Amino acid sequence: MIASILVDVKAKQVDKTFDYLVPHKFENVIEIGQRVKVPFGPRLVMGYIINIKQKSDFDRLRYIKEILDIEPSLTKELLQIGNELSISNTSPLVSIYQVMLPRALKGKYKKLLQVKESSLLPLDLALKFNKNGICDYKEITDYLPEIKKQIKQENIEVIYQVEQYNKERFLKKLTLLHSDVPLRGEKQKLVVEYLKSNPSEYKRNIMHLLGVSHPTIKSLIDKGVIKEDKVEIYREVESMYEANNKRVILNQEQEKVYHTLKNNLNQKETYLLHGVTGSGKTEIYLNIIEDVLKQGKEAIMLVPEISLTPMMVSRFKGRFGDDVALLHSGLSVGEKYDEWRKIRRKEVSVCVGARSAIFAPFENLGVIIIDEEHTESYKQEDNPKYHALDVAKFRSEYYNIPLILGSATPSVDSYYKALNHEYTLLEMKLRANKQTMPATYVEDMRYEFKGGNRSIFSKKLEELILDRLEKKEQIMLLLNRRGHSTFVMCRSCGEVIMCPNCDISLTYHEYDQTLHCHYCGHKEHNPDMCPSCSSPHIRYMGIGTERVEEYIKNTFKDAKVIRMDRDTTTYKNAHEKLLYEFEHEGDILLGTQMIAKGLDFPKVSLVGVLAADMNLNLPDYKAIEKTFQLLTQVSGRAGRHEIVGEVVIQTYNPDHYAILNAKDHDYHTFYETEMKIRKLAGYTPFLNIVQIIITDKEVRNVLNIGQKIKLDLRHQLEDDTLILGPVLPKIARINNIYRAQLIIKYKESKVIDKVLKDIYQKYSDYAIAIDKNPSLL
Ligand code: ADP
Ligand code: ZN
Ligand code: ZN
Repeated sequence: MIASILVDVKAKQVDKTFDYLVPHKFENVIEIGQRVKVPFGPRLVMGYIINIKQKSDFDRLRYIKEILDIEPSLTKELLQIGNELSISNTSPLVSIYQVMLPRALKGKYKKLLQVKESSLLPLDLALKFNKNGICDYKEITDYLPEIKKQIKQENIEVIYQVEQYNKERFLKKLTLLHSDVPLRGEKQKLVVEYLKSNPSEYKRNIMHLLGVSHPTIKSLIDKGVIKEDKVEIYREVESMYEANNKRVILNQEQEKVYHTLKNNLNQKETYLLHGVTGSGKTEIYLNIIEDVLKQGKEAIMLVPEISLTPMMVSRFKGRFGDDVALLHSGLSVGEKYDEWRKIRRKEVSVCVGARSAIFAPFENLGVIIIDEEHTESYKQEDNPKYHALDVAKFRSEYYNIPLILGSATPSVDSYYKALNHEYTLLEMKLRANKQTMPATYVEDMRYEFKGGNRSIFSKKLEELILDRLEKKEQIMLLLNRRGHSTFVMCRSCGEVIMCPNCDISLTYHEYDQTLHCHYCGHKEHNPDMCPSCSSPHIRYMGIGTERVEEYIKNTFKDAKVIRMDRDTTTYKNAHEKLLYEFEHEGDILLGTQMIAKGLDFPKVSLVGVLAADMNLNLPDYKAIEKTFQLLTQVSGRAGRHEIVGEVVIQTYNPDHYAILNAKDHDYHTFYETEMKIRKLAGYTPFLNIVQIIITDKEVRNVLNIGQKIKLDLRHQLEDDTLILGPVLPKIARINNIYRAQLIIKYKESKVIDKVLKDIYQKYSDYAIAIDKNPSLL
């Protein structure tokens, strides 16, 4: 018996299966999708069984060493998805399978040395080896010449080990066997009495509850009164938010949408649910999932980032209790593994999670929901590149089930598909609880400046903040930039302090008084004088969240401000803790785009956007769309319940359509205008875009290789394909690596996937990245 195995080696040359012999003892247990250990070159590596067959075209095959799974980790469907993705993808197939599995199931490699005769080694080196003659390679890097010599003389051998991460957690459980054995010790009697009413209980609970010690329990076990078993437990993921099971009666709009979905549950179809913020989309998701579970099927619900949507989670927990698994980046390796196993073992039927939850190993899916479908984070940018939407479409087809994309601000690409009947459009125009949309004021900051207002806040915003503080209502302020000041400039010569490794200015952070590079992580001390002309007149320009926080604390002295950005959310469960703190005792929540989505606080009646145009001029053809989405989403946080909301948008471009349409909550007008511009400029959805980035230490190389690739593309692609570049982008150097970029634009191409794959293979000696429908150009 032969198994074709995909080995866990991420090199373009190894991106195919290898045949191995199946030892006789494994023939009855081996299954497609299992993880195995196999020899590969001099090493042992992990691999995935892709196929089992009787014959191989190769001879001199090696044997599979060990089988790591009893149940296959990868289902047949997931294997197929991997195949599908790898056709349109230039990442190694094995990296696609790895992203489908929790980290606990990945291989962990160790390089070890085995010595035969340690007396032949210099004494200090010999001491590094344990009594079995083994030593970790990392320990002896100071002795490399000696090691080399010993390897040559065959006294030392290099061995490779593959291990798994530690995973299952066990607890000891006590069970009563005989209650009628006469006992003397009072404590022992206590334990037996307890176990009479609770036939089995965790040992640690009993010790804690009854105040008994190990020897007491041990003597009961020795007498045969009770027995002790090791049982596997799941790690509990705690949440500060209680399960919420508020039931509502669907309103007319919701009822209509719900019926359409409910009547078509067992059909493959993609729906775009466009409902204004607070229109009650989540309520519909919950009802549809309930119906799916009644059919004995399962559901996946994707959200941009779980830690930012604790209320959503509590509603899911409230409705479905322990039938929900949560998969997100805030979990530890072990917690994630436990949640994943609940799905794999069919102990839960609902999975709520961020991007990679789309690979939840259900085998009887009934619906897939992608909330906030316009969100960028559904696309994974680094290897393996994939878009959760593509995976969702595959699975919807595979199971013949609905895929629901929900958003208050659908991406124009999706809305275009809906208008062209590729998706079914469902719309909800009103807020569910009949609350009106918040009134929005656009404040022209140029005008404020002319009037002598040098503050971060316009008069209007300051006035409203004071009003809300007085009324004890809550305020959310958005500034999409972290740090203190955004760049540091010399007032004498105009020099801006740049990162030594990147073509980008450094950002000042007050908390550690250093300048940070937000691209490569470089940090340096705050200069006392200009590095170029030695002038002491250093000026901190631009504002970030840190500086606004400082300003608020000085201006509104009694207000409790909670700042939420990448700098304040580095510890575990930080998002949840900060949001909880804000809800219960905060006055102002100040944050970056993290605070824009999904939050539902009843007491928030004012939202302020401090600099709406901050991202309008990024080199990104979706910058305008993203600005509109951000403004609409954050405005939607105001006045969702009893109190009416107000929104202030501060800007230097008060006439920009992204800002005006967001002010009017007018998605349709925005869509029309944006489409005209996309058409003129030749962007999606009218033309498809592929970006090729070539990176190298030498600026000359990136342009040369770029030229070569361009020639190849020109020969192979259809004549009406546009190929632009190679050029150096605005930020041409990151971490001392140069980048050149080529852009391909085409309406339709029969050959594009194959051509890109060929290019990727042909130039495999260079670092090139190929990205379909990139976000930044
Ligand atoms: P969305 O997901 O569209 O932003 P939600 O489902 O979160 O909207 O609903 C917004 C608020 O309105 C929630 O507090 C929710 O409980 C409430 N809600 C939803 N549907 C109804 C309804 N039919 N009647 C009353 N309240 C509702
Ligand atoms: Zn200077
Ligand atoms: Zn840098």
